[in-house]
Amino acid sequence: MSELALREFHSFQAGGKDFVYLVPSAAVFELDEASSAVIGRLRERSMSRSDLARQLSALFPADEVRETVSELMRARAIGEVGVPEEPAPKQMPPENFPLTTMVLNVTNQCNLSCTYCYEYGEDKIVDTENGKKSKFMSEETARESVDFMLRESGQNRLAHLTFFGGETLMNFPVLKFAMRYARERAAELGKEVDFSLTTNATLLRPEIIEFLAENRVGVTISIDGPKEMQDEFRVFKNGSGSYDIVAPKIRELLKRHRSRPIGARVTLTSRTLDIRKIYKHLTEEIGFWEVGFAPVTTSPDRKYAIANEGFDSMLGQFQALANDFLEAALENRHHGFSNVKDTIEEIHKGVSKAYPCGAGLGLMGVSTDGDVALCHRFAGSDAHKLGTVRDGIDRLVQIDFLEKHHIADKTDCSKCWARPLCSGGCYHEAYTRYGETARPNLHYCEWIRGWTDTCLKIYAELSVRNPKYLEQFDEKVEYEASSVS
Ligand code: SF4
Ligand code: SF4
Repeated sequence: MSELALREFHSFQAGGKDFVYLVPSAAVFELDEASSAVIGRLRERSMSRSDLARQLSALFPADEVRETVSELMRARAIGEVGVPEEPAPKQMPPENFPLTTMVLNVTNQCNLSCTYCYEYGEDKIVDTENGKKSKFMSEETARESVDFMLRESGQNRLAHLTFFGGETLMNFPVLKFAMRYARERAAELGKEVDFSLTTNATLLRPEIIEFLAENRVGVTISIDGPKEMQDEFRVFKNGSGSYDIVAPKIRELLKRHRSRPIGARVTLTSRTLDIRKIYKHLTEEIGFWEVGFAPVTTSPDRKYAIANEGFDSMLGQFQALANDFLEAALENRHHGFSNVKDTIEEIHKGVSKAYPCGAGLGLMGVSTDGDVALCHRFAGSDAHKLGTVRDGIDRLVQIDFLEKHHIADKTDCSKCWARPLCSGGCYHEAYTRYGETARPNLHYCEWIRGWTDTCLKIYAELSVRNPKYLEQFDEKVEYEASSVS
């Protein structure tokens, strides 16, 4: 008789119960006593159904063991030895996948000179200072970009338009123009456009704040924490820190712009890694609704690059802050640590990614002269161009990109339980590290798995102790990015 063995899952405990995260279905499954016992025995060695029933006969009736085995087989947590697991078919997205989010790089110029910047720093991929690309987007290109976005949004009623730079607000006139035009054109087509932007906050004048508030523009501020951390890398061209300039402007923005929650986006470096201190400062002392953290994208030899011990420290601090998040969520209180909220939302929705993000699919970046790229970080790079807003997307180039970047072809990731959520990680990070967008980001696997495990535990604990909290994530997910960085 055929023997049974464990299949692909990640097991963990939360709220005093056993759970598994099933890789093929990206589902979280609570184990009752019988399924825990079956998995426990199969962990020791593979065995037949009858051996299993015999070994567990003192604990559970044979019927219950049989039913449990069937259920675990259906969930693909266990399977028959010698029967190969169905290989996940390489499912390609449908042709003409609608564009959900267009990121418009209205300028590639910036009034800051952040040491680690991927646009101006040592790892830049486009020569934004001396290259041939226009420094500012024209109204004409903005108009063509909006037409492109509405055309490519297909049957979707809502399109997301995100403004980005350089420093976005250095081209405020074109941003205003694009918004006005997008609203008019969308209304004619029976569509709607949601607007957002990312800014370093240095140019937030009262009239700009008024405009953003009145027009319900979603705002993400790039800021690295209290003065000593902000001024470490986020400096003006003369080297002076930007904290004293941006802090009062952000406070004004938060006071006036209350129609949408405003978030901070923090770049973590080897020198600015005190995550709880940063979080406390940005939420309690400045007043941000939420804070998202990301490690700096850089080649490994830069002094600000986070090395292995830095990732360990980062994980420990993320876990501590995630526990604060859990305590708040158990009492239905808001907590603004957006990294954990974003991940548990993906877990709840059973997201299993063929691609790490929407870049080149539902999300595209447009450079100042109208070239369409994978995302905003590649905007202006000829090597990562998918078309132009005038001529549209080159479908052959896009299909080739999607073929080559599918998770099914990332052999390094094929045995990793975190792949439904990670899918190899950011293309831009991979390009900066390895010079290839298709390479998985193997330098941070331990960190990704540690963080995913933490979020799974938080999700499972919430599902046991406050399942109502998770109902906010019930609606369908689509690739979108209302804030980008
Ligand atoms: S990059 Fe690493 S963590 Fe991510 S899916 Fe691949 S192997 Fe897993
Ligand atoms: S995750 Fe990386 S590749 Fe994807 S949209 Fe963000 S920056 Fe671009």
